[in-house]
Amino acid sequence: MTRKSEKLIVDPDLGNVLFRKSIRSRRVSIRIHPVKGISVMVPYLVPYAVAIAFFKSHRSRIIDKSAEQKARYSNVPVCSKEEIEQMRRKAKKELPERLAVLAFRYDFTYNRVAIKHNSTNWGSCSAKNNINLNLNLVRLPRVLCDYVLLHELCHLSHHDHGESFHLLLEHVCSDNISRLVEEGDPLAREMAEKAASSRARYPLDKVCSRALKQYPLV
Ligand SMILES: [Zn+2]
Repeated sequence: MTRKSEKLIVDPDLGNVLFRKSIRSRRVSIRIHPVKGISVMVPYLVPYAVAIAFFKSHRSRIIDKSAEQKARYSNVPVCSKEEIEQMRRKAKKELPERLAVLAFRYDFTYNRVAIKHNSTNWGSCSAKNNINLNLNLVRLPRVLCDYVLLHELCHLSHHDHGESFHLLLEHVCSDNISRLVEEGDPLAREMAEKAASSRARYPLDKVCSRALKQYPLV
């Protein structure tokens, strides 16, 4: 059943597609969720017909995206509450310590660090220089966990994703990966080699963020 501010259509390939009027939306936007399905946010003053036409014009791309997401989601390990608590304990023990090591080495100062559990981000850095880290980080290989920690640490100097932020992140990542390679970390070596042959503007960021996508948040 749909509410007054919602309209449901059934797409032959995608199933239910929920169009939802939203006061906060400025433009029609499509959300694809592996479990909740497809929803389309529609600004209040935009007629449903316009939003449906918009949806139809993007339909083939949405089908591809949705299939891609479902395939990825089917690889998500389902964790029990107990397993999550185990991860939380491990995260509380290991992550603040690793963050402190990297911060000291690269001369970053943060306010406080907290361990969080959410399915939207690996970490965040607030304007007050507090760093939040997702407990899922303990599932990552060292080189990728460090990559996320360094990303948040670099936000202490640049609270955006601009050029200066990326140059700093490449610099500290490159130093850290060289150290891991020296320690004999095989994945760090693989990342370094891939980055060396990449033509991306920020090669280490590109290679690491791509590898990170293999790990869904649980
Ligand atoms: Zn960021």
